Amino acid sequence: MSVMKLRYYPDPILNAPVDDVETFDDDLSKFVMDMAETLYSTKVGVGLAAPQVGRSLNLFIMDVSDPNEPDELHVLINPSITASSDAMLVAEEGCLSFPGVVEKVRRHVWVEVDYLNEEGEPQSTRFAGLAAHVVQHEYDHLHEKTLADRVSRQTRRGMLKRVKRALKK
Ligand SMILES: [Zn+2]
Repeated sequence: MSVMKLRYYPDPILNAPVDDVETFDDDLSKFVMDMAETLYSTKVGVGLAAPQVGRSLNLFIMDVSDPNEPDELHVLINPSITASSDAMLVAEEGCLSFPGVVEKVRRHVWVEVDYLNEEGEPQSTRFAGLAAHVVQHEYDHLHEKTLADRVSRQTRRGMLKRVKRALKK
């Protein structure tokens, strides 16, 4: 396994379209393992989408378990949000592609997602709470959107400065 290089805002790959995963082979397993190692190496990340490590593929991983608990990695391939709550919740979000940035974002309280697991088997899961927030954040990454597309133009300008400053450290 290896830690991959993260892509940071405003890298254009973060707003590029993704291709569906069609082949469930050893290359895919290795890529997912590398993504997991990359996510865990950050110590703070709870989710990671393929474009954030430079691959325009329709998949993301997340782990919202307590850092002191055993890992609970979710792998969502070709995900599709099929239902969502009317109720919304505003919460602070960070992103591994936006070091130094935390922004308040409005998300659905729960979402239902159809996706494939690593073996290519169809799954359907309802996510709520923090997991729902993370799913919607990662889903944006697979739909040519990032945190920067969820805030005002003025806030966006501040983001760029903060990312550049954080990367210089
Ligand atoms: Zn992100």
